Order: sequence, then structure tokens, then C-alpha cells
Amino acid sequence: MQAANPYIYKIKPYVPGKPIDEVRRELGLKSVIKLASNENPYPPSPKALAAMNLAAREVNRYPDGGCFLLRRALARKLNVDDDQLIFGNGSDEIICLSVKAFAAKGDEVIIAKPSFLIYEIASTLSGARLHQVPLKEFRYDLAAMKAKVTARTKIIFIGNPDNPAGTYITQRQTEDFLRSVPKSTLVFFDEAYFEYVRAKDYPDTLGLMKKYPNLMTTRTFSKMYGLAGLRVGYGIASAEIIGILNRLREPFNVNSMAQAAAVAVLGDEAYYRKIAKDVEEQRQYLYRSFESMDVAYEVSFTNFILINVGVDSSQVAGALLKKGVIIRDMAVWGLKGYIRVSIGSASENKRFIKTLGDVL
Ligand SMILES: *Cc1c(COP(=O)(O)O)cnc(C)c1O
Repeated sequence: MQAANPYIYKIKPYVPGKPIDEVRRELGLKSVIKLASNENPYPPSPKALAAMNLAAREVNRYPDGGCFLLRRALARKLNVDDDQLIFGNGSDEIICLSVKAFAAKGDEVIIAKPSFLIYEIASTLSGARLHQVPLKEFRYDLAAMKAKVTARTKIIFIGNPDNPAGTYITQRQTEDFLRSVPKSTLVFFDEAYFEYVRAKDYPDTLGLMKKYPNLMTTRTFSKMYGLAGLRVGYGIASAEIIGILNRLREPFNVNSMAQAAAVAVLGDEAYYRKIAKDVEEQRQYLYRSFESMDVAYEVSFTNFILINVGVDSSQVAGALLKKGVIIRDMAVWGLKGYIRVSIGSASENKRFIKTLGDVL
């Protein structure tokens, strides 16, 4: 066989959370719950289901490559120009497109450690030199990140809040950081959990874009809006940056069912506000439960929580799996002793807590 792009061999393949059906099949379990991929535990809003039903009748046609209706709806909601938006097959695709567009071989990319794995995978593949700056008490060490910036730094990724820590950087920190970074470096804010954050000092990155044209933000319909299976996310930036990304984008990268559902969920905020509120209540329930079990956790601004189980986390994850509870072992992310659990429905969380108690 011919050799592949040499950077391919440097990549550790991404290991996703195990699908429910796979665990059922492999372990012969009847009831399995998945709290491993930060999904929304509830089905889409009835409006989204109806919109998909209509769109399904036309899947013999290619989708609208320009995402006209979704673009219009989102541009209005966010108060940005149409040409400041790009849509992707999940926001993952926007991350990958941005690295391809801006970081060539020998360029540098700065990320936190641990951080969302796609930043690392995309950068490695492009041949970029990766600087991984350790978190400090599970928060971004912005001073240390700034110290890594050189003339060849093309992108700095800031997951805000980041995964797996669940913490965020503030408006003030963001402004100080942007002031200190050269305009030739793209500062990429990944706001996949934006809709869950209630903190008053959470940064308004869209507002900062006028002053800092090297700033870009991504968000997604996969998390609070619960459309993970459809794969649709988006990026917001200057028209110039979006224009560059559009040159690389595949013409039909967002399918028509996804576009229809995304428009529909934007029109059903009431349904999703209720879910976000439920997640908040459930987060409190989980905190209380961890405290009563003497299990340490990191306060989260998302729909997942990083937990220190103290003992071998791979063993804990394996034992939970055998009992039909899928969570994420953080040892693979370099956090030995930690697991990450997504906030599920009330009954799922109850079952998780009971099972965790049994396992520990
Ligand atoms: C889940 C997640 C994403 C991406 O989700 P898509 O489904 O590709 O939109 C991006 N960033 C972070 C930090 C995430 O946790």
C-alpha cells in the first residue's frame, strides 16, 4: 500500500462515546443510558420534527448549499450580516476548515491541555506545531498562552466553556487577551455550550468582533438544541474570514433535514428554555449527590461535569459500563482519576448516582 500523508500517523484516532445500541449488543443489557457525549437527553421539539418530516419528502434534491433560510433566521437573531456566517457539518467542520485555511506546515497553533480533542487532531494533520498549555486549576492560563505566541502563531483555540473542564473565561479576561495578541493570529472561540451559560461576565465575542477582526466564534445545534445526529453548527466572523473558509467548504456540507430542523428550533425557544432550566436543576441535584458521597467535582457552566473519582477512573468507567451506564473516562485525556458525565434526564441522573455509589 502507498504511504499516507505522514501527519496521519501522528494522530490518535478520536474515540467517541460508545453508542447505546453497541453497548446493549456487546454486553447483552436491556437498559442502557448514555451520559458520555454531552447530548441533550430529550427528543427535538415538535416543530423540529414537523419541519424534518416536510424536508424528508424532498431529499431526492440536493440541499441549499447556501443555507438561505437558516442564514436569514440566524443573522436576524444574532444581529450580524449574512456574509458573517458559515454553516458546517457540526461546528467540528468549522474548526477543521479554519485550521486548513490558516495553519500550514510549520505554522503554530496554541491550545489548552486538556482541551477539546478536535483542535489537536486538526492541527496535527495540517503539520502545524502545536503548543499545549496546561490548565491551571481547570481554568485557562491565558498568560502562559500569550507567552507562547510568536510571529508564526496562526490560531489560538479557546473552548469557552471548554470540554472537559466546563469552566469559562470572562469578558474582562477576553478583552485583555485580545489586546495582547497580534492581529495576524486568529483567536478562535468555541462556544459549543453558549446556550447553557448563565454567568453575567461571560464574554460577548460577537460584540468584540468589530474591534478585533481576528476574532471568530463557533456555536452548534448539537448541544442544547439537541440536533447532534443531524450535524449542524456555524461560525461567526468578519466577512473576510468567512470568505476564505467558504473557498474550502464542500458545496453541500449541511444536509437539508438539518437545515430545516435548525430553522425550526430557532423558532421554538420556549421548548429549549425549559430544557436548559431542567439541566440547571439537574446539575444542582448532581452536585448535592456528589457532596453527600464525598466525591470532588468541578463547578460547570455546561451540561456536563468533571468528577474526581479518586481511584482508577478506567476501572470505574468499565464497571459503570457493565451496569449499562456509559460515561467518559478522562484518563485518555490525561486526567487519571477523573470521569466526565453529561447531565441527563432526572431518571438517568438518579440511576447514574445510584450506580456510581455501588461501583465506588
Ligand atoms: C461537542 C463540542 C463541539 C462540537 O460539536 P458539533 O456537534 O460538531 O457541532 C465543539 N466544541 C466543543 C468544546 C464540544 O464539546
